[in-house]
Amino acid sequence: MPVSDLLYAPREAIEAERERCFAEMMDLAAARHPRTRARMAASGLARADFASLADLARLPPTLKSEYMADPDAFRLDAEGLPQEMRTVWDVMYTTGTSAGRPTPFVSTTYDFFRILETNRNMLRLRGVRPEDVIANLFPLTAVPHGAFIRALHAAASMNLRVVAALPGNPSPYFTLGTDIDGVVRIVARSEATILWGVPSFVRRVVARAAEMGADFSAVRLAFVTGEGVTEAAREELTAALRRLGRPDAWVSVSYGSTEMQGGMVECAPGSGLHNPAPGQFYMEVVDPKTYAPVGDGNPGLLLLTHLRRRGTVLLRYALGDVSVLSRERCPHCGSWTDRLVAMPRRSDALLKIKGTLVNPDVLAQAAEAVLGAREFQFVVEEAGFTLKVAGEPDNDLTRTAVEAVKRASGVTPALLFVTPGDFISSWKLKRVVDLRG
Ligand SMILES: [Zn+2]
Repeated sequence: MPVSDLLYAPREAIEAERERCFAEMMDLAAARHPRTRARMAASGLARADFASLADLARLPPTLKSEYMADPDAFRLDAEGLPQEMRTVWDVMYTTGTSAGRPTPFVSTTYDFFRILETNRNMLRLRGVRPEDVIANLFPLTAVPHGAFIRALHAAASMNLRVVAALPGNPSPYFTLGTDIDGVVRIVARSEATILWGVPSFVRRVVARAAEMGADFSAVRLAFVTGEGVTEAAREELTAALRRLGRPDAWVSVSYGSTEMQGGMVECAPGSGLHNPAPGQFYMEVVDPKTYAPVGDGNPGLLLLTHLRRRGTVLLRYALGDVSVLSRERCPHCGSWTDRLVAMPRRSDALLKIKGTLVNPDVLAQAAEAVLGAREFQFVVEEAGFTLKVAGEPDNDLTRTAVEAVKRASGVTPALLFVTPGDFISSWKLKRVVDLRG
């Protein structure tokens, strides 16, 4: 069975194909992957100790900091393998830390073919049709990321039409950026049916389209990724889409990562995030301290293992988020692929603000409950703690928002009204930015 068709295959077929890919991957990793070789040597392990995926837990996990410190150690030595497996097709970069260098994620030709399969399956899961037209609302960035580029490839993988709106301006050396009104006009004139971008920007485009009276009547879907989306935010965006676009328009959330060059996606609102390529990606959920498996249905730290890569290869890689895994059949689309049935949240992100430990998710939720579709961002600096909100100053809103944040977190922010351009942002809007140290 072709790996690309695993999505709707029976559970046993998925497991069998995974074992086959894992055996191949471990043969290569044990001989050609510097990091795995070092880890196996240090633990006294040999290739024979990994007879099946059930043995994968013998391998210590890899933390993001370890990958960032020495990305070359995670590249397969492809000398002597077929040309497709040793030729570098492209290099994407993880966003990295605010101060650090971006970390390269290398894909060979072979990997790029797998990425197209992943992209195609993401679209299939989301119910994309041959007549759909995608509006790529991701901005260009100073270093290549998966978002802008893979949206174009996704369209190619299903032979669809796509228009890239090129919002924003990532660099003084770039001259083709489109402002928000221009983006609205591009969506309208291309009769796009799908808006694909980060939720904060998709929301802005839809809001501006309403103000301009633009014709968004063809829009039936929004694909959002890169930022957390609460159910309240989803409802608001869905309602806005339905006012302007098709009456049955909906929002499909994705949990994307550079390390997947794609994302786990919803087939329906609240369906859980489906692994689009179960033959390529193996997810584990483990205890954040001991890394012992916690079992399906229980919350834990997400580990990603590549089963079919030849460039950068990560085994038991801690994505840094907590979620819940299910291998039950999806009641909406019937797929047996694994799903994350809780929205992933950062596991390591507690911040000390004015002496209080604060969960950034709690801050974001408290602000969003008050601010609705208004864009906002918390900024933590040595000098203070500020909640920046887009739009005209509003005294009532100020009082309510500051109160809500104080109640939820125990710390009181200063509130500042700004224009959306004043947010600290790469290709996605981080809700909480820590500029200290
Ligand atoms: Zn489904």
